[in-house]
Amino acid sequence: MAKMRIDKLLSNIGIGTRKEVKKFIKEGLVLVNGNTVKDAGLIVDTESDEILFDGEKINYKEFIYIMINKPKGVISATYDEVEKTVIDLLPQELKARNPFPVGRLDKDTEGLLLITNDGDLAHQLLSPKKNVIKKYYAEILGFVNESDIKAFNEGIILEDGYKTLPANLEILFSSSDVSKVYVYIREGKYHQIKRMFESVGKKVIYLKRLAMGSLTLDENLKPGEWRELSEEELSFLK
Ligand code: URA
Repeated sequence: MAKMRIDKLLSNIGIGTRKEVKKFIKEGLVLVNGNTVKDAGLIVDTESDEILFDGEKINYKEFIYIMINKPKGVISATYDEVEKTVIDLLPQELKARNPFPVGRLDKDTEGLLLITNDGDLAHQLLSPKKNVIKKYYAEILGFVNESDIKAFNEGIILEDGYKTLPANLEILFSSSDVSKVYVYIREGKYHQIKRMFESVGKKVIYLKRLAMGSLTLDENLKPGEWRELSEEELSFLK
């Protein structure tokens, strides 16, 4: 959708509320293709029209794609009356673009979460057909061993009877106290990794998503920090 009202476009990118934008237009601060805009309802083509606000060129992209390092304690939702959501971590100008998280991480899980307003892409990524492999780092109470690797490979029967698709388990460190592992899963059932470990009698005490397909969490992002995806990262997803 390349066509939209100029006041909507400017408020979407955080220039101001619709009311403020109307005021800016009245003040003559908005130019389209060299002409001062008089009508806040003017329809512009976001791809081909040259839009200036206060002398600065506006580069409007229809969709936003953000990676966030989700911290513990916030939920993967758009809005909640009680809990803090991942969307609450974004600045107002991005919130105004109606973004939502693609899929879910548990409240106590950290790591890579994609946030976008591109419904088609979200739908594709979540489709079981797409089979995107997600990589997690996990810390587990107890000794993770070869028989767990085998069980994960063969598919684990969860407590509700569901058999998971083959998953890979890579042991980084193992002890009777705490073990550290990478887990690779192809699906995203509710509490999947925690439930898989429960089925082999072990407890996940820390979980962080590191990658979804070729999209890897930027190590420079501290929990709660975010950045837009690069063109290259976006191409991994499409
Ligand atoms: N598996 C879980 O148990 N929790 C998550 O947040 C993600 C995968």
